[in-house]
Amino acid sequence: GCGGPQLASAVGSRGAGSGRLGGSDAGFRRSQGARQRGVRHTRPRHRPGEAHPSLASCSGVCSPRRRRLAAGPVRRRHRRAEGAALDHPAAGRLPHPAGAIIAGLSEIRQDAVSGHWVIVAPERARRPHAFANAAEKPRRAEPCPFCPGREFETPPEVMALRDSGRANEPGWRLRVVPNKFPALKRNPEQELAPESPWRREGVGAHEVVIEAAEHDLTWSEFPIPKLAELLGAIRSRMTALARDRGVESVFYFKNHGDAAGATLEHPHSQLLALPMVPALVAAELDGAHRYHANTDQCYFCELAGREGAGGVRLILDGGPVVALAPYAARAPFEVWLLPKRHQARLEAAGEVEMEALARVLRAVLRKLDRALGEPAFNLLLHEAPARSGALVYYHWHFELIPRLARLAGFEWGTNMFINPVAPEEAARRLRETSAD
Ligand SMILES: [Zn+2]
Ligand SMILES: [Zn+2]
Ligand SMILES: [Zn+2]
Repeated sequence: GCGGPQLASAVGSRGAGSGRLGGSDAGFRRSQGARQRGVRHTRPRHRPGEAHPSLASCSGVCSPRRRRLAAGPVRRRHRRAEGAALDHPAAGRLPHPAGAIIAGLSEIRQDAVSGHWVIVAPERARRPHAFANAAEKPRRAEPCPFCPGREFETPPEVMALRDSGRANEPGWRLRVVPNKFPALKRNPEQELAPESPWRREGVGAHEVVIEAAEHDLTWSEFPIPKLAELLGAIRSRMTALARDRGVESVFYFKNHGDAAGATLEHPHSQLLALPMVPALVAAELDGAHRYHANTDQCYFCELAGREGAGGVRLILDGGPVVALAPYAARAPFEVWLLPKRHQARLEAAGEVEMEALARVLRAVLRKLDRALGEPAFNLLLHEAPARSGALVYYHWHFELIPRLARLAGFEWGTNMFINPVAPEEAARRLRETSAD
């Protein structure tokens, strides 16, 4: 395995002499390098915490051709010699372990051909109405398990902001609790035998942020200081989870409304600490690295600076944070929010960004409410992987997707999207809609 130029730039940005290489960090960059050579997956040859064995030999000796391939536009080749199946020790055989899933334990599986990851989490099926048709799902009235006075219905809190009361008692403004039906666990009781490179132990974390004591308050109605405080709490949980053993990335998301997959209406969002970098984030990292290699610029800095300064896709210039319609928006009225200052991870954001983000986010949500009739939405955060240092080419951003249409066969089968509203038209309508 060879980290290529990505390794060099990440080492450079970390500063000389810190020497914190190896473990999952090196593993991430190795897999990035591998992807750029057209290899979907490499066999893990070291365990987290150990030095990456080939690091010393590969950081300076990449062949010029390999370096060109990694830095320039990637040419996808399908040479058998580098194909995924032949990379596996038992070449010519399906790499799927025969064992059934162990009760109570999640597994992370990777498709050997497409490379997509799946968290197989039987625990999640125990949720009430886990498989109910959305239309038949009964609406849970107050008080719900997230309401004050029902703290005993959730696992004990890992963080809270409170005006009064003791831990796991009323008096809080915000609580963070482990998910009662987790997709991943921090410390599973049993360890999964590493019998296949296409399978990982479901180690990580799954937390719920209960964003307000009020059962039916929406983000459009949050006071700005409350929303800024919430974003600060998300930042501190992301920072803490990223330091956990075996965690390679932390993913934050909010589902609002039935059509977006929310099963409770009490305002809440979720954090997943993952033992890998999800494919979509890995693809963005690849693309952003390529852009930086070709232009010496961070794509997102340029985007925020140029399109944020005015233009057809600007929705709102909020000073340190801008809201834009992305050029290749996948869904009607998709919105990206990002800081103008270069910051690879939310951890790097200061109070200035948190306050501006709260203002821009609430204004955009109010515009969407008004223009589209309070749509369901998914909000998600992309940031650089855990322990990746201050990457110069990746930049945190929120993606906000109003759920106006359901994903169907075409999207499932191609990962392509048909967007009936041009991003420029969506931006114009949102610019012209009041946020008062
Ligand atoms: Zn509630
Ligand atoms: Zn940037
Ligand atoms: Zn993104």
